[in-house]
Amino acid sequence: MIELTQDDLKERLNAPIFHHISETADELGLECYVVGGYVRDLFLQRPSKDIDVVVVGSGITIAEALGKKLGKGAHVSVFRNFGTAQVKYHNIEVEFVGARKESYQHDSRKPIVEDGTLEDDQNRRDFTINALAVCLNKDRYGELVDPFDGLEDMRQGNIRTPLDPDITFSDDPLRMMRCVRFATQLNFYIEDETFEALERNKERINIISRERIADELNKILLSPIPSKGFVDLDRCGLLELIFPELVALQGVETVNGRAHKDNFYHTLEVVDNIAKVTDNLWLRWAALLHDIGKPRTKRWEPRIGWTFHNHNFIGEKMIPDLFRRMKLPMNEKMKYVQKLVGLHMRPIVIADDVVTDSAVRRLLFEAGDDIDDLMTLCEADITSKNQVRKQHFLDNFKLVRQKLKDLEERDRIRNFQPPVTGEEIMETFGLTPCREIGSLKSSIKDAILDGIIPNEHDAAFEYMMKKATQMGLVPKPKQN
Ligand code: ATP
Repeated sequence: MIELTQDDLKERLNAPIFHHISETADELGLECYVVGGYVRDLFLQRPSKDIDVVVVGSGITIAEALGKKLGKGAHVSVFRNFGTAQVKYHNIEVEFVGARKESYQHDSRKPIVEDGTLEDDQNRRDFTINALAVCLNKDRYGELVDPFDGLEDMRQGNIRTPLDPDITFSDDPLRMMRCVRFATQLNFYIEDETFEALERNKERINIISRERIADELNKILLSPIPSKGFVDLDRCGLLELIFPELVALQGVETVNGRAHKDNFYHTLEVVDNIAKVTDNLWLRWAALLHDIGKPRTKRWEPRIGWTFHNHNFIGEKMIPDLFRRMKLPMNEKMKYVQKLVGLHMRPIVIADDVVTDSAVRRLLFEAGDDIDDLMTLCEADITSKNQVRKQHFLDNFKLVRQKLKDLEERDRIRNFQPPVTGEEIMETFGLTPCREIGSLKSSIKDAILDGIIPNEHDAAFEYMMKKATQMGLVPKPKQN
């Protein structure tokens, strides 16, 4: 956070658009302020795209007047139902809204809205750090209006609601998710009273749509240290309500003095590890869900210990229902997460043993273009506290990666296309579609993956002929 005086703010709000807004507001005799996230991010030195402007009066009137002033380059959209308007000018988007007072009914997060003062408008904001306003009128240009000491909260790194947090959260329970999300994105502390209100009001989350919750979860996952958000969600009891499968990963059981690790904290460590190396949201989701099948597969097996057999396959199967319920996309993004969860044990099994060419080729065949992401997930999955063991795996992963590269150059397995097609087989033996064709194709594929023959047509054809003869197939006589 940096300290900014009125002069500094003037300088930072120096883009021509702000001066045009200022002039327009003065001409109309309306008070007008930049407000919310844009102001917060000036102090926190974060990039900010959207500019929100509050007008004491009609937001639509000022937006229309500004549109006229800016002329051709400007595009104004008016949303009369909401009393808001948007002005797009080159790459800049400014939202205009009239200052308002809000009151809520119990069963909806849609407020009853009346015109209000700037103070009313600041009262309806979710957190003190989001309630800052900077005046744009000429005679007060750059003046900060900060009634809840949001500046001090930014200095201290605190998230706090401007008014009674029980009312704030109960009125609009989405704010509970936003609370945890901002704390995670900014690495801020949720002030105690605010946190306790999260605990008390958690059940209110049930009136919020799954889409909005998923949006916030995505933002938490995209934060620098996502675990912070999931720990906060868990501590206040929201996680149990929105994502019980993650809570089910918690706990350590001991039998015969042998304990397994706590899979919730392990999962969070994996998510934090992966967040250091990739911004790919879906790869981060795969990290969050990689062990989601563990609770269902946990067994105590005397003489062996704790096992989680097939947890990767069970996890893979759980994902469509999870994505559907959470309103996450049911498309190739989901399939990608499923694939990574399903395959996440494979590299470690290879790396734990002698790294053979054939095992690496098979892995490459199944992972295809997602092989690099799979390796990234597996590296993040090594959370052993035993440094020797950790190093052993990391070294072997390096070997796996090197072999993947060498074998791909030689054999082009990544996007495997069978070198002998089913059609060619049918043509050679005068067959119509039948089981033998599939069986020949898969023995060619196996021979290539096992390194018996190279991934080339002639070698594959010769191999296929040998196999076909063993199966008693006779080539069709050639026609001249
Ligand atoms: P980000 O763009 O990262 O989500 P932001 O603070 O700009 O951050 P927006 O959702 O664009 O978030 O909201 C803009 C401003 O509107 C916020 O800073 C806050 O003042 C106010 N606001 C948004 N949503 C709510 C809400 N649910 N309750 C109260 N105030 C809100």
